[in-house]
Amino acid sequence: MSEEQVIGVRDLNFSIGSKPILKGISLSVRKGAVYALVGNNGAGKTTLLKVLLGLETQYQGEIRLFGSQELLAQRRRIGAVMQMLCRNMSLRGKEHLRQMCLLCGADPATEITRVAAMTECTGYLHKRLRDCSDGMYKRILIAGALVGAPSLLILDEPFNAIDPQGMEHLRILLHTLHKGGVTILVTSHILPELVRLATDFGVICEGRMSSEGTMRSLKERGFFRYIYAVDALSDGIHRLEQEHPALCAIPYYEDTIAVISQSQPVLSEGFRFCEKAEADTEEILRYYMCGKEQTA
Ligand code: ADP
Ligand code: MG
Repeated sequence: MSEEQVIGVRDLNFSIGSKPILKGISLSVRKGAVYALVGNNGAGKTTLLKVLLGLETQYQGEIRLFGSQELLAQRRRIGAVMQMLCRNMSLRGKEHLRQMCLLCGADPATEITRVAAMTECTGYLHKRLRDCSDGMYKRILIAGALVGAPSLLILDEPFNAIDPQGMEHLRILLHTLHKGGVTILVTSHILPELVRLATDFGVICEGRMSSEGTMRSLKERGFFRYIYAVDALSDGIHRLEQEHPALCAIPYYEDTIAVISQSQPVLSEGFRFCEKAEADTEEILRYYMCGKEQTA
């Protein structure tokens, strides 16, 4: 491979008890990418990130970070924000950042100011974490992840709980970090944000990678949106799932349904064809997330 790989995972398997959660996952994140890991709830995204970060250790398969299998040493170069990590919520924001500085060997006197300015959380660093709104809390956690200027940022659902202005700000921040050469691995199901931000996508479906590549490579197969009118949306969606389970269908405007497909499906009576158009990026991701590969 000519491009430098920051994360390389090969045939990763991970179970909780007897339940397989990650089933033969392989993925590759190249240096400088904003890699979006998408998938429905419960697909295994958070679990995969936990394995990468060393929070889960009982896995089979090969993991390389920055080309090395010395994972402990390489993890020092990672900044991460994970959901549902237990933290001491009685700490003030500033104290949390100070702890992060001490862990990373950074000077709190300058580093706290730097990362707080980047994430615009300076105004509420005096608050205890438990008294912060979800969005404030998230910004402080992201500031913590930026301590020590990591080369790889791993962010699990960073857009959740952030207001629209905060979302824009976070998008700009991630874009700036990306331009500065930081590699970013981000999970989210807020597809419009990811589509604006990501250079590469991995789609995970029930513990398996269903697709991986740049948006261009995922688009190459030529997807269309076929719009059908129905008498009532909920009934139409239900019938479509029953009668055509292999199709990826999403509610469209009012009483219309979009079927994302490479070729026009033949639908039963009651679905009235309206129009065909090229599928947009978000719809193509939805197609891969459905896990319903069709024979063209
Ligand atoms: P995602 O982040 O894609 O929504 P997760 O990685 O959190 O998905 O979860 C993947 C699967 O693993 C789900 O079926 C979830 O119920 C299961 N799982 C995750 N953590 C645990 C746990 N501690 N005990 C049992 N099952 C778990
Ligand atoms: Mg998750």
